[in-house]
Amino acid sequence: MMCLFIASEKLHQSLKALQYHTRICIPEFFVSWIYYTIQAITRIRETMLNSTSILSYGLQTLLLRRQMPLLASFKVTYHCNLRCTGCPYHRRAREPGAKMSWQQALEVLSRLERLGCRIVIFEGGEPLLWTDGNHDFSDLAEKARTMFLKVGVTTNGTISLDVPTDLLWVSLDGARDQHNRSRDISFDRALQHIKSSTHRCIYIHYTVNRENIDDIPVLAGVLASEANIRGITFQFFYPYNQGELDLALRPAEREQAVRTILKLKRSGKLPVLNSSASLKRMIKNTWRCRSWTLANVDPDGSLWTGCYLQQRGEIRCRHCGFTPVAEASLALGLHPGALLAGRRIFFAN
Ligand code: SF4
Repeated sequence: MMCLFIASEKLHQSLKALQYHTRICIPEFFVSWIYYTIQAITRIRETMLNSTSILSYGLQTLLLRRQMPLLASFKVTYHCNLRCTGCPYHRRAREPGAKMSWQQALEVLSRLERLGCRIVIFEGGEPLLWTDGNHDFSDLAEKARTMFLKVGVTTNGTISLDVPTDLLWVSLDGARDQHNRSRDISFDRALQHIKSSTHRCIYIHYTVNRENIDDIPVLAGVLASEANIRGITFQFFYPYNQGELDLALRPAEREQAVRTILKLKRSGKLPVLNSSASLKRMIKNTWRCRSWTLANVDPDGSLWTGCYLQQRGEIRCRHCGFTPVAEASLALGLHPGALLAGRRIFFAN
């Protein structure tokens, strides 16, 4: 796809050069017509390929009852430059297998492709710190983009965001002071990188917890005027009990958080990309989990499908805060709101 875009740019430049060197008069409208036609064909082709791939996933899972993962949460490293209070992963950076090698990453990507996975989201630790020999995160993202429909990354935002992923989430857990308290004084750096980034699809990811619940509208107010932010997604803190602070919401707080997010969504101040349907069901976790929609990868190369918590913590569905799984589960139940949310997040650009 990218090739066609580049080809249209190159053709445009070549026609201009030809005109300049040979003095042949090529009407400007003709050059522009070719340029825009190729770009339009590219977009139509991309839309068709996306639709075909998602349609074939839908047919295989819904009609043939194949339990294929839709999305992989790919932890490429536990290493991180921050020490966030609610995160259990940077505490594991000294373990053997805390960082994946390039070769391992290629093998795991191939396994995910064979499983039929369509979307890969890199995370960590801090995935943008990842390197192995001459390879860095951009190489990994480029490679993944040749294999999957969409490739994203979730980052703490403290490193340049100009990486070749289709989508990019910056984790912000509150307005400046609250975020700094829990996420190692990183708010200003993250916001600066968002402002200066050329990445075309930046979202904010907010993990709601007991301490930042009141900051949801405050942060939305701060971010509403940021042109580089396409929207915000929310999930709810899950207690792993592995050394991180226990910031899990009590039932009444969880309901309050969902009501606040729904109000923000209705206000249109900052696009909230979770569907209302999945948010409402997160209050008491009254959704049917199709955990097989998720594949999980750890930095030691292990890969499994199913709940994110397997091998990582006790599975207590009553406390589940993983909105992406709720959204995917509802979408597989053909819920229109969840289907639209998926389209809006992954296929809007
Ligand atoms: S904890 Fe959440 S994702 Fe895991 S099985 Fe339970 S409901 Fe599904």
